[in-house]
Amino acid sequence: MLSVAVGIGAGSDDELFREIILDHYRHPRHHGRVERPDGSLEADNPLCGDQLELTWRVEGDRLADVAFTGQGCSISQAAASMLCDGVAGLPRPGAIALARRFHEMLVGEGRGDDLGDLEALRGVRDYPVRVKCATLACNALLQALGAAREGEAA
Ligand code: ZN
Repeated sequence: MLSVAVGIGAGSDDELFREIILDHYRHPRHHGRVERPDGSLEADNPLCGDQLELTWRVEGDRLADVAFTGQGCSISQAAASMLCDGVAGLPRPGAIALARRFHEMLVGEGRGDDLGDLEALRGVRDYPVRVKCATLACNALLQALGAAREGEAA
């Protein structure tokens, strides 16, 4: 019984993560364009056909608002929704740090703790071909914030 229970536990985690991803895909947060944007950036992932456009507005050193439009697979669009949701309103350094932690969770050793809904995408790291779908939004955001490192160009 114990092993069955453990198996069910692991399965329902996956199920929960899948539901979070689908919820963001079907009901994207921060979808559209911000009012009076300070900048916009287009990014695409030709491997999968994902496209995003980010618009954002800064107030002082704060990322006052950020929004996206785009099309593509559920992972790329859900990641954009989760990321915009996570960073909107943060001070610029905090937004950069969050995007970097998310990136690290997908391509490095980061566990992605305290990333909120973005943690639901942790399983993507096991599917290298889909990692670019998930990192498209955070690479674009880092570029938008002038913080892209080599290899993070959108
Ligand atoms: Zn994709």
